[in-house]
Amino acid sequence: MKPGATPREVDAVVAVVESIGFRAHPMPGATRTAIGITGNQGPIDGRRFENIPGVAEVIRVTKPYKLITLDLRPEKTVVRVDDATIGASELAIIAGPCAIENRDQAFAVAETVQQSGARFFRGGVWKPRTSPYAFQGLGEKGWKIMAEIRNAFGLKIVTEALEPPHVDLIEDYGDVIQIGARNMQNFSLLRRAGRSKLPVLLKRGMAATLEEWLLAAEYIMAEGNYNVILCERGVRTFAQHTRNTLDLASVPAIRRISHLPVIVDPSHGTGSAYMVTPLARAGVAVGADGLMIEVHNKPELALSDGAQALTPSQFAQLIAEVRAIREATAPDSNKTRIQNPQNSEIPVDALANR
Ligand code: PEP
Ligand code: MN
Repeated sequence: MKPGATPREVDAVVAVVESIGFRAHPMPGATRTAIGITGNQGPIDGRRFENIPGVAEVIRVTKPYKLITLDLRPEKTVVRVDDATIGASELAIIAGPCAIENRDQAFAVAETVQQSGARFFRGGVWKPRTSPYAFQGLGEKGWKIMAEIRNAFGLKIVTEALEPPHVDLIEDYGDVIQIGARNMQNFSLLRRAGRSKLPVLLKRGMAATLEEWLLAAEYIMAEGNYNVILCERGVRTFAQHTRNTLDLASVPAIRRISHLPVIVDPSHGTGSAYMVTPLARAGVAVGADGLMIEVHNKPELALSDGAQALTPSQFAQLIAEVRAIREATAPDSNKTRIQNPQNSEIPVDALANR
């Protein structure tokens, strides 16, 4: 739509799209609204929309995915949870234990991650474990703890739904629905999350190509939920020195295709605490909008993923380091920029901290 298009003009275009049996996806942006159209089998004649008042141009998206693309929405999506954002200039930090184990553990971790500046608290209530005999999560009991943490610390709650009914509970007590690697192509779960009002954090499947991952995001958006965050968490390769191979090249690759925010999870991406900080630094340097980090007050006693959990002090150190990297590399940083002798730009503050 043209920059000055009125809400009424947007509604009129939506009505035309729907009257011919397609689905309209209006996505307001800072300067103009894009209206995605889905439901057409093959190309349609776009000229019929061209003369409707307020329409700026009709763009045909010939890729398999449509709503995720920069063709449709050239400006980045910013996901907002109250005053916390993912995809804006602030680096989004989602931190917490792999699983909620008990009240003391969850509170101890929540307190420390909040003190270090995290705005989002993660923690599994239902855990997708490889073995049926491994700890499966506290279930409903975990929810009570999550709700208390949300009240006590003002942290936004991010937790994984393993099946569609879990989304109902997250809608009551949580802030962001996580869909895990194992469920990236669980289409009924994607559709259910797509009908939710809450943002969805979609992890990359263990063997998913970029296209499969983006099409999974498209499933969510096709249902009308445009607040999707992509999370690179590594894929399985022949490498044995890490749990997964963290594919940091996916971050710039996604940037070139999609307006969706993308974050990096170096905890599941490496599986070892000693590698988490180096890969977190790299994730921020490569342009991620945020990080997901597993933290435990007693990693040696953790009921899941203890080997990759950072201690609270390691986490605090990581945050200080990645913030500095963000300052030095963020393209939209508001810092005054000066030229260095090699003619590349460095923010003044980053120089002052050397
Ligand atoms: C998790 O975040 O705890 C998790 C199970 O991650 P993934 O789906 O990436 O394996
Ligand atoms: Mn985990």
